Amino acid sequence: MDPFGLTLAEARAWAASLGLPPFRGEQLMRGAYRAGVARFADVKGLPRDLAERLDAAGALAPASEVKRQESRDGTVKSLLRLHDGKLVECVSIPTVERHTVCVSSQVGCAVGCSFCASGLNGVERDLTPGEIVWQVVHHHRVSPVTNVVFMGSGEPMFNYDNVLHAIRILGDAAGLGLGRRRLTVSTSGVPARIRQLAEDEPQITLALSLHAGDDGTRSRLVPLNVRWPLAEVLGAMADYADKVGRRPTLEYVLLADANMTPAHAQSLAAAARPLGAHINLIPYNPVIETGHRRPTPAEVRTFADQLARVGGHATVRGARGSDIDAACGQLKRREEQPT
Ligand code: SF4
Repeated sequence: MDPFGLTLAEARAWAASLGLPPFRGEQLMRGAYRAGVARFADVKGLPRDLAERLDAAGALAPASEVKRQESRDGTVKSLLRLHDGKLVECVSIPTVERHTVCVSSQVGCAVGCSFCASGLNGVERDLTPGEIVWQVVHHHRVSPVTNVVFMGSGEPMFNYDNVLHAIRILGDAAGLGLGRRRLTVSTSGVPARIRQLAEDEPQITLALSLHAGDDGTRSRLVPLNVRWPLAEVLGAMADYADKVGRRPTLEYVLLADANMTPAHAQSLAAAARPLGAHINLIPYNPVIETGHRRPTPAEVRTFADQLARVGGHATVRGARGSDIDAACGQLKRREEQPT
């Protein structure tokens, strides 16, 4: 039984199934999220014999931290080992106004973007809801988390049911009680799931990892584009925006050698315009194996100016954690490779 994989209703039902009053389920959930609770026996109010049985059956936390890197800017990257030995990364990004945690939804990734370390070996398995939620709790126990972004390893839409379940746990008052607007799912573009998300969870924030506004460039960078080209993905995003009544966000990683010409700025603006979308420009955190180059600040400025001239509304995001292995999948890869 993984308390981090239960909504409040499920925790109550679990308690009832053991012949306990339902409030014991809530007690378990609230207790498990507190700092310093490493065993079921540490959860206040849980009957001792039950806590002993649960502790004997397995550890309270579904993962443990095996490596940690702290950046000068406060970004903390944690490498977690799951019960089956698989490794997964999560990142804590504190700023003055918020504490954001970036979580993974799968071990590895099937999409295989050309600039990403997570996709280099394909996907190993989906994460359970509890394994997703635990990445947040892991950092929440140090400092209260205000925002969660699904931008770590994995394509969230390929693990849709578990991601949705995790979102509902994170939003539960007995869990972290995070408002839906504080949860962002980032996808590389799975049209049917984008439309389904608008029905299932219209309040959360959806971001499309676009990275190129023309099919030729995008298919080279994001191979999923061959299966679902831009017209299909942008069509789904337009339907999504109509349904939820909010403008989507487009993520655009700036790769000096691949997607930063004036023509790329034109096609990006053209893709964003019908959606009224805001664009986040993200200077690349290099991964040596990919061969892509991080742009200089001058190259970033030039591209942002070109984009503004053709009507694109963009913000250049500061690169966080550039002095650690902050790019997705780097820390896991380093740990797995023989030295
Ligand atoms: S960028 Fe995201 S979708 Fe692309 S390979 Fe990496 S984890 Fe997968």
